[in-house]
Amino acid sequence: MGMFSSKQFDSFDTLLVDQLEDLYDAEQRLTKALPKMASAAHSSTLKSAIQQHLQQTENHVTRLERVFRILGRSPQGTTCYAMKGLIEEGQEAIDATGDPDVKDAALIAAAQRVEHYEIAGYGTVRTFAERLGRSDAAQLLQETLNEEESTDKKTDADCRTERQYQGSGEINNRNRGHGLLSFAAPQPCNQSTAQARSPGL
Ligand code: FE
Ligand code: FE
Repeated sequence: MGMFSSKQFDSFDTLLVDQLEDLYDAEQRLTKALPKMASAAHSSTLKSAIQQHLQQTENHVTRLERVFRILGRSPQGTTCYAMKGLIEEGQEAIDATGDPDVKDAALIAAAQRVEHYEIAGYGTVRTFAERLGRSDAAQLLQETLNEEESTDKKTDADCRTERQYQGSGEINNRNRGHGLLSFAAPQPCNQSTAQARSPGL
């Protein structure tokens, strides 16, 4: 969502297109950022998870283009300052020095923030499209939302099964239960979300 320009929202159609343009820019930025994150990942599991996310993200760009066409618009992006910031934070993890396993955890933390932003964005546009009676667009946006949620869940699972932090007792003890930093702790790293989505997790 752009912060530095004044917008005029006279209708939900206008708002929907604005939000789609924001997501289009966000997804395109991600396609450029994810290869760098994959290269920086130490764990082969994480590297392949990021590469899979890249493929998924490329499909999301294409799917958004279909949504624009369904709505009679040309695909176009407006600067997504939130995604720019999230990617900058990811870049900090890429550039960081230190323990490779801890760096991987920093990459996962950045990736999960990205995923949650996307989930919020797609949930919103899906609902707006439904409200406007555009079930064709809503269905496509729901497909992407499902994939974003599945990637988020997979990130949770990855962070619980990875061995990172097991040799880092100080971090485990100090941060047990706090988001991704509960890597080697017995509880899920994103417990409330995981429980809400799947009691079996
Ligand atoms: Fe996406
Ligand atoms: Fe995603």
